[in-house]
Amino acid sequence: MGASVAYHLAKRGVKNVLLLEKDAFFGQGATGRCAGGVRYQFSTEVNVRLSMASLPMLERFEAEIGQAIDYRQCGYLIFLTTLQDLTVFQHNLAMQNSLGVKTEWLSGDEVRRRLPMMHLEDVLAATYNPKDGLVDPHGVVMGYINAASRLGARAINNVEVTGMLLAGGKIVAVETKAGTVSTPRVVNAAGPWAGLIGAMAGVEIPITPVRRQMLTTTPLAEIPPDFPFVIDFAQSLYFHREGEGLLTGMSNPDQAPGFDQEIDSQWELVHLEAASARLPLLEKAGLVSHWAGLYEVTPDAHPIFGNTPVEGFYVCAGFSGHGFMHGPVTGQLMSEIILDGQAQVVDVTALDLARFSEGRLIQEYNVV
Ligand SMILES: Cc1cc2nc3c(=O)[nH]c(=O)nc-3n(C[C@H](O)[C@H](O)[C@H](O)COP(=O)(O)OP(=O)(O)OC[C@H]3O[C@@H](n4cnc5c(N)ncnc54)[C@H](O)[C@@H]3O)c2cc1C
Repeated sequence: MGASVAYHLAKRGVKNVLLLEKDAFFGQGATGRCAGGVRYQFSTEVNVRLSMASLPMLERFEAEIGQAIDYRQCGYLIFLTTLQDLTVFQHNLAMQNSLGVKTEWLSGDEVRRRLPMMHLEDVLAATYNPKDGLVDPHGVVMGYINAASRLGARAINNVEVTGMLLAGGKIVAVETKAGTVSTPRVVNAAGPWAGLIGAMAGVEIPITPVRRQMLTTTPLAEIPPDFPFVIDFAQSLYFHREGEGLLTGMSNPDQAPGFDQEIDSQWELVHLEAASARLPLLEKAGLVSHWAGLYEVTPDAHPIFGNTPVEGFYVCAGFSGHGFMHGPVTGQLMSEIILDGQAQVVDVTALDLARFSEGRLIQEYNVV
C-alpha cells in the first residue's frame, strides 16, 4: 500500500513524497508473505469494484511501471461443501455477474472432472472465474518503489516510525529512529501494524494482527500448468501451483491475535493432514519452504480508507487477508482522497474509519 500510494502521489506531481520502512528490505510485511492471489470473487459490491479497478492495473503493470510481475490468469476455483455456502455463493455470483464480472457456476461433477487428482466426493458446487489468478508481490512492491523514485519520491528502509507530533489537532511531524521529519500529511499504510501507528497519533484503528502460514512443495508432475487457485471454502484450505510444485495453506480459525510470525508446527500438521486428504499425492512431495505472516483483520473484513479525526493523518490499511490485489487501486484512491478531497475511481466512502464508531459495518463473507 505504501509503495503504491508513493507512486500514485508522485505520478500526480507531488514532489516531496517520503516512504519509510522499518525493515531492512521493502515488502517483507504481509505483502511479501502473501499467496499472491488476485480475484474478482467477493461477496460485497465494493470489494468486487475494488478488484474491477485494481486487477486491470496489474494487467497493465509492466507496460506502465516497467516491471514484470508474472500475472498468470489461472482462475480461482472455490468449491463448496455446505448448503449455507451454496446459497451465499449463488447470491454472490448473481451480484458479480450483474457488475459484468463473468464468474461461472460449476456443478460438483464438473469440479471432479476438472480436478481428477483431488478427493472431492463431498463437493456440491463451485464458482470459477478464469480471470482470477496469481501475481508476484515482490515485483509489484519494487516496481512501484522504483517508478516512484524515478518520479522524485524517496523510499528509505531501516527507518522505524516511532511517534507522531501533533499541534492543534493536526499532524506536524513524524518521529523516527533516524530523526524527525516535518510534514503536514501522513498516510498510515502499516498493514498489520497500522493500529500501533494510529495509537501514536491518538487515533484508534481497529486492526488485529492474526497469524497465517503456508508452505511450498517440491515439483509434482501430476499438477498441470493450468491448475487453478483451488479453495476448499469451508476449511479455509487452498492450493495453487508454485513453480513446478504447489503452495498450500489453511487458516486456523482459533489462531489467537498477535504479532508472532513463527511457524506453528502443530497447526502445520493439522493443515497437512487436511491437505493430503484432499490431494493425496502431497504425501510424496517434499517441503521446499514454509513461513508465517499476519492478516490485518478489521471487524467487518473490509479495509479502511481516508482521513481520521487528526487533520493530515490518513489511513489505508486493514485489508483483512486479501489486500495485496487491491494495492494498485489503493494508491490511486489515496492520491485522490489527499489531492482532490474525494475518491474517484471507486466509491469507498462506506469504508471510512468512522464506520466502526457509527455502526455502519458491511461484512465480507469470502475471507479465506
Ligand atoms: C499468509 C498470507 C496470505 C495472503 N494471501 C493473500 C492473497 O493471496 N491475495 C491477497 O490479495 N492478499 C493476501 N494476503 C493479504 C495481503 O498480504 C495484505 O492484505 C496486504 O499485503 C497488506 O499490505 P499492506 O501494505 O497494508 O501491509 P504490509 O505489506 O504489511 O506493509 C506494511 C509495512 O509497514 C511496515 N511498518 C510497520 N510498522 C512500521 C513502523 N513503525 N515504521 C516503519 N515501517 C513500518 C512493515 O514493515 C511493512 O513492510 C495474505 C496475507 C498473508 C499473511
